[in-house]
Amino acid sequence: MAAWKKELGWTLLLLLSVALIGGITGLFIPLLLLLIVSLLVWQIVQISRFERWISYGGRGKYPKAKGIWEDIYYHVYQIKKREKRRKKKLGKIIDQFRKSTDALPDAAVVLGKDDEIEWANTAAKNVLGLQSSDRGQRIPNLIRFPIFVRYLKTGLFNETIIMPSPTNSHITLAVRIVSYGAGLRLLLAQDITQLRKMEKMRRDFVANVSHELRTPLTVLKGYLETLQELDEPLSPLLSHSFQQMQEQTERMQYLVDDLLLLSNLETQPKKTHCVDIPALLAKICKESESLNDSGGRVELTLETNAHLYGDEHELRSAFSNLLGNALKYSPLESVVKISWRQTPQNLVLEVVDEGEGIAETEIPRVTERFYRIDIKRSNKVAGTGLGLAIVKHVLLRHDARLAITSELYKGSTFSCYFPVERMC
Ligand code: ADP
Repeated sequence: MAAWKKELGWTLLLLLSVALIGGITGLFIPLLLLLIVSLLVWQIVQISRFERWISYGGRGKYPKAKGIWEDIYYHVYQIKKREKRRKKKLGKIIDQFRKSTDALPDAAVVLGKDDEIEWANTAAKNVLGLQSSDRGQRIPNLIRFPIFVRYLKTGLFNETIIMPSPTNSHITLAVRIVSYGAGLRLLLAQDITQLRKMEKMRRDFVANVSHELRTPLTVLKGYLETLQELDEPLSPLLSHSFQQMQEQTERMQYLVDDLLLLSNLETQPKKTHCVDIPALLAKICKESESLNDSGGRVELTLETNAHLYGDEHELRSAFSNLLGNALKYSPLESVVKISWRQTPQNLVLEVVDEGEGIAETEIPRVTERFYRIDIKRSNKVAGTGLGLAIVKHVLLRHDARLAITSELYKGSTFSCYFPVERMC
């Protein structure tokens, strides 16, 4: 039976007894009053016992009680027990999370709305120099590198920034911020010192190898030319072999030159000055025509006389590569248009050809090192697969970007967009 029904039953029974005794003795009213007061006092005592028990946190077994009060104690006790179990489970999860984040080699810091530190793992303390007492402090007040402060301010968090560790300048960090939740951000810092070292070793290795290969190749080429110029007539086999050897040595020389140029772009500082682009383009067009034996094929349009702040040698390589490709990958009788113009935001160099074109799927890949579309097609024309990688790198060093549009068997357009701020 429900507790309240039992309680009501007892009260009615007491009332009935009072009514009976009161009827016999003629003292109904005083007895009823006595019963009401007794019941009230009993309830007050129960409430105060309950209040005392709960005020001590309801810890331990509950005191003995009767009637509905026993049920109340039992239910509260069960709720407390369940809460305790849940707390223990949650504590275990938090403990595991803390242990795993502390084991992370990367620094992780949770930032609040105003860039204040809400939480940081052990690695953050080691590589970013944060202390437990820094909680609540704004991170730009603690890590003051301009690149980092700017990164936080701009909010362009899809990029990663590279900066030295505030605790050790020999450590290089890649820092990235990820937004989540309501205004919260997670700052991740990865130690990339080793990666950088390996990258440098790779660059140095390529630079050294290409440099060292230059001399033996020049010697080989020289001897081959001398042998071919001998007065004695050569057998068809020897003459064919010499021709093949010369072609391959030339190919190797182009490769070495391009590799050296690329590694210079990666390692050497730029020699910037105001470059007369119209004059440079006129020179490149003249050279390309004579080099590729393509007189009359190049149409140069100079819509602006703008000069550009940059490295002349690098720009010459990039533009020559684009023009060279346009001539190489289009029919001998077709025209290649090269133009230099200005828009409100950019200075644009455009090379347009009516050649074999590039399939849409290949466009994003052609600027990769050594990437040549369809070996059979590209093998017909000499090349190293490094030309467009050089173009991309040069443009990157000039805050410019390359846009390629192309249609198979119709032609391609290579556009270089320089920011107008580079005009001089
Ligand atoms: P390569 O030395 O082979 O010319 P590039 O890096 O300059 O190397 O070009 C990569 C590939 O992109 C080339 O092999 C060629 O297939 C393709 N390509 C480059 N420019 C053009 C163009 N103007 N028209 C068609 N295909 C092109």
